Amino acid sequence: MRTLFRGGTVVTAEGARQEDLLVDGERIAAIGQRLPDDGAAVVDAPGLLLLPGGIDVHTHLDMPLGDTASADDFTSGHLAAAFGGTTSHLDFAIQPKGASLREALDLWHARAAGRATIDYGFHMTIADPTPAVLDEIALLPDWGVTTVKVLMAYKGRLQVDDATLFAIARRTASAGILLMAHCENGDAIDILVREAVAAGCRSPRCHALTRPAELEGEATGRAIALAAVAGAPLYVVHVTCDLALQQVRAARARGLRVWAETCPQYFFFTADDLDRPGFEGAKFVCSPPFRTARDQEALWEGVRDGSLDVVATDHCSFNFATQKTLGRDDFSKIPSGVPAIEDRLMVLHHAGVDGGRISLGRFVELTATNPARLFGIYPRKGSLTVGADADIVLFDPQAERTLSARTHHMRVDYNLFEGMTVRGAPVAVWVRGRQIVDGDRFLGQSGSGRFLHRARFAP
Ligand code: MN
Ligand code: MN
Repeated sequence: MRTLFRGGTVVTAEGARQEDLLVDGERIAAIGQRLPDDGAAVVDAPGLLLLPGGIDVHTHLDMPLGDTASADDFTSGHLAAAFGGTTSHLDFAIQPKGASLREALDLWHARAAGRATIDYGFHMTIADPTPAVLDEIALLPDWGVTTVKVLMAYKGRLQVDDATLFAIARRTASAGILLMAHCENGDAIDILVREAVAAGCRSPRCHALTRPAELEGEATGRAIALAAVAGAPLYVVHVTCDLALQQVRAARARGLRVWAETCPQYFFFTADDLDRPGFEGAKFVCSPPFRTARDQEALWEGVRDGSLDVVATDHCSFNFATQKTLGRDDFSKIPSGVPAIEDRLMVLHHAGVDGGRISLGRFVELTATNPARLFGIYPRKGSLTVGADADIVLFDPQAERTLSARTHHMRVDYNLFEGMTVRGAPVAVWVRGRQIVDGDRFLGQSGSGRFLHRARFAP
């Protein structure tokens, strides 16, 4: 099967140029001026952009949480991702207490098996770091997993202490694994949360009050220091505030191997959204929490000056009516997380590219090229280049779309960006040469998404 995209604008991290692009089978076969069709199916694309398929390196599909689980599984999550122009994602396999890393990975493989319609891989979140588990870290690359995540928050559940973080960092450094860290000081947060609940501070707003930016900045600096001494490259997930960004910037100025991610939602919402009336604020509860308008500006600056490398979603959806309401009388019981897997490219293009803050090339770099490079799937993924997988998004930069739970494909009863009209939207999507989205029609076949066996860290 050959497909010729004719007359569109091919966008890479280097920039945008009007060129034809030929797909043969699963790969990109040629890019150039006036390519002959030679019997290929022709897609006329004047006025449209050809983007490399989006890569969302931070998702939580079908994630167990207490007695519940995140609302989107690998079926609905992939459907929504595809409509949003994302063709690959990396989800977190979370080690259950007492389980080996291999067992954890098998659990997550089972979640995706038979459901996947886009390509997917796994990070390993270590939650129960026994000596045997530490020894197992070196085996992860053989299983296609070249990232390990630690959480410095969620005390008593997922949090690791400094000694553990340091021990894990040494292991990842020697195994060619990129260490990822959720940076918030969970010890202090734990005290603040218990005090707030006891004092009657129970509303969603109290979620933000008990997770101040200082504690993200502090933990970010601590993770950077521990990783540096261990010789471990470090990827800081979901940077939300200027204080954390300053730590990343200073580390990079010292020549440390530190990379950082933010999420689209942190550009759009502040802690004030947690005060929305009628418990609506619970829809905006995520960790770290939404900050201030000043932090939003700092994040844009970080995106412009290169201190932030990746925009991924931390998609972790919970239904408002049946799940977020578990915390109606106590904010600390609100499942933490927001839906964004479908909206990432649209809202970032709208506010970033259409809003004049970043170039198209930078947009592609943040959403596809850097994720592929950092996470061991470049150049197979992340760029429109000859020989790469034909993961292609046909994107109409002029199309207007109003984001809403009534029309989105995520299996969750609210949309974070409800009512927001964006300019620029995907109109058709291909994964490895096979079309999976055509306008509002889904053409993906369950089980066609492939596991991404990722290379060792070597950016
Ligand atoms: Mn996190
Ligand atoms: Mn997360």
